[in-house]
Amino acid sequence: MGGGLTGLLLARELALSGVEVTVIERGKLAQESSWAGGGILSPLYPWRYPEPVTALASWSQRFYAGLAADIQSQSGIDPEFIQSGLLMLAPEEPNEALSWGHQHDVELQQVSSAEANAIEPQLGIESDGIWMPQIAQIRNPRFLQALIKACEGLGVKFIEFSPVEQLIIQDERIIGVKTSADAFRAESVVVASGAWSQQLLSTLGTNLEVKPVKGQMLLYLAEPDLLQRIVLVEGRYVIPRRDGHILVGSTMEYSGFDKSTTDEARQALQAAAEKIVPALRNYPVVNHWAGLRPGSTDGIPYISQHPKIANLFVSAGHFRNGVAMGPASARLLADLILERDPILELYPYKINV
Ligand SMILES: Cc1cc2nc3c(=O)[nH]c(=O)nc-3n(C[C@H](O)[C@H](O)[C@H](O)COP(=O)(O)OP(=O)(O)OC[C@H]3O[C@@H](n4cnc5c(N)ncnc54)[C@H](O)[C@@H]3O)c2cc1C
Repeated sequence: MGGGLTGLLLARELALSGVEVTVIERGKLAQESSWAGGGILSPLYPWRYPEPVTALASWSQRFYAGLAADIQSQSGIDPEFIQSGLLMLAPEEPNEALSWGHQHDVELQQVSSAEANAIEPQLGIESDGIWMPQIAQIRNPRFLQALIKACEGLGVKFIEFSPVEQLIIQDERIIGVKTSADAFRAESVVVASGAWSQQLLSTLGTNLEVKPVKGQMLLYLAEPDLLQRIVLVEGRYVIPRRDGHILVGSTMEYSGFDKSTTDEARQALQAAAEKIVPALRNYPVVNHWAGLRPGSTDGIPYISQHPKIANLFVSAGHFRNGVAMGPASARLLADLILERDPILELYPYKINV
């Protein structure tokens, strides 16, 4: 249940192992948080996250270039996986950052203001920084479309505009789900419904700490190659796409399921973007949107069997890093469902009663 990145990557993993998969999506596939995000393939300040987030992100980072190439050849759509690197200016904890990089074998260099300018000549801020050359990005809307096509090629069925309203339980097993129009039977069921996952699980009396956290983004249309690197300053970032679009993110708002955009956020994001890259003043803002992240405690997702219903599974709560952690998260849940040796320890992601 859920045709965002979490559901689609899992559908692919299962289909590759010969499982018959149907994805039931409330609206149109791939239009929620997974579409709205920036596609940076790393947590923003990775040393601030607990180890289970790092484990999923690191595994995925090793896997992404190959995954993007496979999906492109299967779908004919280029998801624009680019190793653009990430330059952080005015880092607050350079020592923690450096020792984290050392410990996790991630290339992370402390750079002077002049070195930062050589890495990204468009900077409007003079500051020392941290340069992470290995960090990549993917153009998430394209990645999602490519993934849908690749899944179709593997026989995955998609049912859109069909919100699941009820989980059908019999003798402590789930036997299927109901939408307003239909009922579907299945041997196993997965809740991968992003910020809405708790709504479905609460019908079973299960309480997960997954709540919507709104993030607003702006999009500029500049020139190709104006900006080369992802740049991050005090929580705000700019991401250059290949065709000259530049994304600016993002806000963190706890305002329920409201997805409206605000003038206040637009002004704050625009001011931050034009401070980081003054040349952006010469280009138009062509879009402004909001998405609802599936917020969870410490950013650690649930990748787990339901505590009482053995054939019901949950993959939810990927918060700010669902794209960065996606491939490992999908493989890990597929391992659990198919009773294979898991790629990572499962216990940090387990739902406890
Ligand atoms: C502004 C912003 C910037 C971000 N930037 C990044 C980034 O740079 N890097 C990164 O790694 N992550 C980023 N993220 C986070 C990332 O987008 C999410 O962690 C990830 O997309 C979550 O994927 P998901 O499939 O779990 O949720 P979603 O993409 O929200 O998908 C859930 C799906 O479930 C469906 N659904 C809900 N209820 C039901 C139901 N009852 N029945 C059927 N279907 C249902 C929804 O319609 C939706 O399509 C960002 C997010 C935002 C909002």
